[in-house]
Amino acid sequence: MNINILTLFPEMFSPITEHSIIGRANEKKILNISLINIRDHSLDKHKKTDDTPFGGGAGMVMSADPVFRALESINAQNSRIIYMSPKGKLLNQDLIEDLSREQALTILCGRYEGVDQRIIDYWDMEEISVGDYILTGGELPAMILIDAVARFLPDVLGSAESHKEESIYSGLLEYPHYTKPREYRGMQVPEVLLSGNHKMIHLWRLKKALELTRERRPDLFKAFIDKEDRLTKEEKKVLNEIIKDD
Ligand code: SAM
Repeated sequence: MNINILTLFPEMFSPITEHSIIGRANEKKILNISLINIRDHSLDKHKKTDDTPFGGGAGMVMSADPVFRALESINAQNSRIIYMSPKGKLLNQDLIEDLSREQALTILCGRYEGVDQRIIDYWDMEEISVGDYILTGGELPAMILIDAVARFLPDVLGSAESHKEESIYSGLLEYPHYTKPREYRGMQVPEVLLSGNHKMIHLWRLKKALELTRERRPDLFKAFIDKEDRLTKEEKKVLNEIIKDD
């Protein structure tokens, strides 16, 4: 997958381009991340990229011209174009999976009060938010999106890092994890996890995931119950035990 990032701060992306799983994917060319510095496309002699808002008000607005030129330089029309924006639709797992099926993404990171609306309108940008809070720029939101999308690309995650059981992916919050030692400061690992009985372990984990989801995310729990026909007889029994407590 090719990902073009338009930003005024390309250096902010080194944590994802150089490190960890995403850095490896970038190195292996599963993911080609191109950083485009919007300032390089400014025709202003001082390389200005923003201006005061028409109609008055605080702050600056990113100007259309440098962003248009940056988008044209990479033929952005051949990719799905995203503007990271608190006004956008909320990023969730379904959207991440949908994005991961694209050949190319172009992501515009805003700064200041945001970008000139004509950029969004002309390029028919999809606005995506990472949550109901305001950050100072679109770079962190873009990194969140890229990190989550990259995990769905083939060969990015090793078998040890599979997402198949992870929170949300399965429709449930994930069960708790334990690692060595068996006892730590008097706290024991649940016996079933030491049993070697894979079926019992699976059902215990399902129970824990159901309990946690019911407590913390009733919306997900309800959606999961609505699709209970996907469950085996034994899994249904675990679910029914939990529902009967309601
Ligand atoms: N004035 C804007 C508003 O009220 O909607 C907020 C601008 S914000 C300070 C600057 C930039 O950060 C935005 O253009 C956007 O690219 C990014 N940004 C801030 N919060 C975000 C969020 N929750 N999700 C995605 N991008 C965000």
